[in-house]
Amino acid sequence: MRSTKSPPALWALVDCNNFYASCERLFRPDLIGRPVVVLSNNDGCIVARSNEAKALGINMGEPEFKVRDLLKQHNVAVFSSNYALYGDISNRVMLTVESLVPVVEQYSIDEAFVPLDAALAANADEIARATRERVRRWTGIVVSIGVGTTRTLAKLASEIAKKGDGLCRLDAGSPETEDVLARTPAGDIWGIGRKSALKLRMAGIYTARDVRDCDNLKIRALLNVNGLNTAFELRGVHSIEMADAPISRRTIISSRSFGARATEKEALEEALAMHATLAGERLRREKLRASGLAVHIRTSRHGNGPFYEQRANVSLRLPTADTRELVRAARQGLEAVFQRGYSYAKAGIMLYDLAPAEGGQTNLLELIAPPARLHEKELMAALDAVNRRFGRGTLRFAAEGKADAAWRMQHSRRSPRWTTVWDELPKV
Ligand SMILES: [Mg+2]
Repeated sequence: MRSTKSPPALWALVDCNNFYASCERLFRPDLIGRPVVVLSNNDGCIVARSNEAKALGINMGEPEFKVRDLLKQHNVAVFSSNYALYGDISNRVMLTVESLVPVVEQYSIDEAFVPLDAALAANADEIARATRERVRRWTGIVVSIGVGTTRTLAKLASEIAKKGDGLCRLDAGSPETEDVLARTPAGDIWGIGRKSALKLRMAGIYTARDVRDCDNLKIRALLNVNGLNTAFELRGVHSIEMADAPISRRTIISSRSFGARATEKEALEEALAMHATLAGERLRREKLRASGLAVHIRTSRHGNGPFYEQRANVSLRLPTADTRELVRAARQGLEAVFQRGYSYAKAGIMLYDLAPAEGGQTNLLELIAPPARLHEKELMAALDAVNRRFGRGTLRFAAEGKADAAWRMQHSRRSPRWTTVWDELPKV
């Protein structure tokens, strides 16, 4: 499956500012200027803050009861999370971005990567400015856009953009990039978590520049192949694919355009089962469970037929990381939104309300759970182990359908996975 196509010349990362808080404000102009926070569904922790709330010193993830006095004292508007609303606004933002560029890879509920080929890259700054302006005018949401040679540099650029005027560009090797890498702590790089940052510090690696300049064998020994990929990306070499990208902690998204348009419900069912499977793998990799799943289907914006787009939220009875339950929920969501007579171009799922799998609260329902649930962990662990060892998709659920189904995407855009698949290692 080696591809001869070269990776995009540039990447852009579009990121909505204070997304949940901004969504709450869209229909409540009276909240402009007033601090806003959003709470998680299950445990009442702060999951989103407006700039005013951030300025009050309210931290991400803080339990509501700990800051209750502060919230009252400053007349903070407090909301429970409303994923139906955020999902809808998210779709509008994504569709708006798609109206300006050919390919949009949604990464989380409020972020999307946009690959820019050579022709588009020549106008990258113009495209970023236009996208920012159009999203603001069409949806009312303010986005920050980072442009960079690789996804990792684009992500870093977006963080800088967020703190500045909303736009930032980091070309590998440019003086500005040098400067940024030298003052960015290694732990602030996309995909380098707290534990990894600690390992790096003990090895004398402190900044993004240190990571970039680190010897390949050394970084691989410290942080595995993922760390090596990150070092390559900081050097400007495209090395991280969406499927292997570090997940955003709030939502897991798996969605993709079809290889060929689909009109039958069965094709959508299979596609959604595949996405549920992929999302389930990522969920377990990160030791998380989800409490909600959203299904999203739509036709093409560019086709001749009528446009149709719909999403459904399915709340899971218990937080789960079991692929079988995710597939079931995806099917249930599809039942709610599927309409015959359209040519579907894209389907996807989003998992939300994520919480750590271990040490979470056990509720009464869980104690009286059916026996099947007791084997969930063992079954899923065995499944993941086989797929890790023999390749993704070695063991699959029948619900995903055949490997050569027409709706499946051709991976023609994918560059070789140089560092993660042995048969695709570059030959010298
Ligand atoms: Mg954001």
